[in-house]
Amino acid sequence: MENLGRREFIVGALSSLFFAFPKRAEAARRKGVRVKLPPFPFQETVITGKKKGKRILVVGGIHGNEPGAYKAADILRTVEVEEGELIVAPRSNFLSVLANVRGYNGDMNRKFATLSPKDPDYPYVEKLKELIRELRPDVVLSLHDGYGFHILNPRFWGQCIVIDEENFNGYPLGKIAREVARAVNEKVSRRRWKIPVFNTRTFSPDTKHPEQRKSLTYYCLSKCNIPAFCLEASKQLPTLETKVRFHLLMMKEFFKIYGIKIKPDFDTLISETGKFLERKRIYTARIRINGREVEISSGKTFKVPKGSTFEFVAFHGSEGTNVISRDVNMNWRNFLVRRRISFEVKDDFKRIFNVRLIVTS
Ligand SMILES: [Zn+2]
Repeated sequence: MENLGRREFIVGALSSLFFAFPKRAEAARRKGVRVKLPPFPFQETVITGKKKGKRILVVGGIHGNEPGAYKAADILRTVEVEEGELIVAPRSNFLSVLANVRGYNGDMNRKFATLSPKDPDYPYVEKLKELIRELRPDVVLSLHDGYGFHILNPRFWGQCIVIDEENFNGYPLGKIAREVARAVNEKVSRRRWKIPVFNTRTFSPDTKHPEQRKSLTYYCLSKCNIPAFCLEASKQLPTLETKVRFHLLMMKEFFKIYGIKIKPDFDTLISETGKFLERKRIYTARIRINGREVEISSGKTFKVPKGSTFEFVAFHGSEGTNVISRDVNMNWRNFLVRRRISFEVKDDFKRIFNVRLIVTS
């Protein structure tokens, strides 16, 4: 793919300036093709049980290159709840999920203490905080795929349950995490895959991890008085399916402790993880060029004259389907293309097809 670099494009933010100068706006428009891409939605699902009970929030995708975490959260969106309430935010950092990087705009899990409204992640961090403040879950689970195996090297974050303190405000975080770990480890024979509990002692003055005071779990505890845990599978597990299964195994035990019952149950979800991940889907993208819509289901090149508008309107396929372009700043969703650009229609980390736009005079 040809990378034309950023200088070929006029930043979308400049367009507001052009509104003040209609003639200049018109002149700029004639220099290229205006591209509009849909925003990255903040996905949240609330599933309420027939029987009242505790409320659990599962957060996935704060880090975009941790598919075990966000796919496990995504699977939970398909269940029914028999008792209690389940809230799932599977792709908290959707742009980074599509780009398949930890944090396209920096580490989102360091943005929960303070954040400039100018930060491109700001609306998503705020959404998550709002969800927690307004729905006040009884517990928050933040899902990650960490590096390595914590049991082999305590400096690694993979394959463990992270707590911020042994006890916090009467919440026995350590006791709960160990109960989950014990139940999971009974089913694990390989030593390196076993799940220990990692206490970062975030509230202690001599903590080795003061940076954790900017994390989601610390926000839940310190600002909302809500217990929160980090569930870490390992990036080094052999398959995506194994990573997802470990998340489901850990969540099964948390759900049991909090008395939240889902249908199908976790054992069924765990046995059908492969089927869920390999589900065949038909993907389409609807594109609108100067008001006329076309639907495509495979790669295509469009030659479009200057002065036109080229929009991605909608997608079919999965909840993880959206479009990015590596030729521009990926935060831009409205900008002018002067010569050419290549887009990737993606299902999470997976590229489905490319769409190329060539500007003609
Ligand atoms: Zn992570």
